[in-house]
Amino acid sequence: MDNATRLHYLEAMGITIWVPRQRPIASEAEAMQSEALQNPVSQDVDYLQSVDQLAIQAEHIDLVGNHFNARSVPHDTLSFNNDWQTLQQQVAACQQCSLCETRTQTVFGVGNRHADWMLIGEAPGQNEDLQGEPFVGKAGQLLTEMLRAIGLRREEVYIANMLKCRPPNNRDPLPTEVQACHAFLQQQIILLQPKLILAVGRIAAQNLLNSKQTLSSLRGIRHQLHNIPLIVIPHPAYLLRSLLEKAKAWEDLQFALSVYKELEK
Ligand code: SF4
Repeated sequence: MDNATRLHYLEAMGITIWVPRQRPIASEAEAMQSEALQNPVSQDVDYLQSVDQLAIQAEHIDLVGNHFNARSVPHDTLSFNNDWQTLQQQVAACQQCSLCETRTQTVFGVGNRHADWMLIGEAPGQNEDLQGEPFVGKAGQLLTEMLRAIGLRREEVYIANMLKCRPPNNRDPLPTEVQACHAFLQQQIILLQPKLILAVGRIAAQNLLNSKQTLSSLRGIRHQLHNIPLIVIPHPAYLLRSLLEKAKAWEDLQFALSVYKELEK
């Protein structure tokens, strides 16, 4: 990506002033992309072992560190050996919480199933419910621009939500709904084996990290979801309302990219 193109994307994000810290980020991102394309599936042995271990332990400990018990595993038929297709079919048929009564369709997730980057939002909104894809509409377009600003195409990452069905009137998800849907997200993470997770927005961040801290206090930190680094970024719908926050979001993305590059060393 040349400098003019990058500036175009930054402008699309509402960021008109930007000073590069080190060498141009585009060249870093292109190098990263090239390497990722040559090696689309992680060959990091330690990492793969940790994910295998995670899958083995998944029946006992979930990804936010809570111990499972019979009640916290909501799906009788859910196996941690599911493939993508089976999992998607189970989600489409799910009636584990009352959101199944008001959804147009489930919103499973979209993107590259060998992606290094996984983005996790909170729940489908109206457009997502209608189209069956996470992060569409204006907020989705902004998210796509944000990714492109750091040299990533939307098709290169995997995008999912904690909840697969839309809460009515876009209200916040209830804890019972998050719990009911949690095993699906957990399986997506196990199947994908991402190198880096971006928690998109406060609700996703707080739930994934099992934290009540504010968004601003969770940003700029390399969290861990077990052995997977997790970075918090603001929700694009929030950014659409605040120019100042867009500038901060750019810093979050740069931080995420720096964490990813560290993993590649
Ligand atoms: S939100 Fe999740 S748990 Fe609830 S009905 Fe939809 S897929 Fe099932």
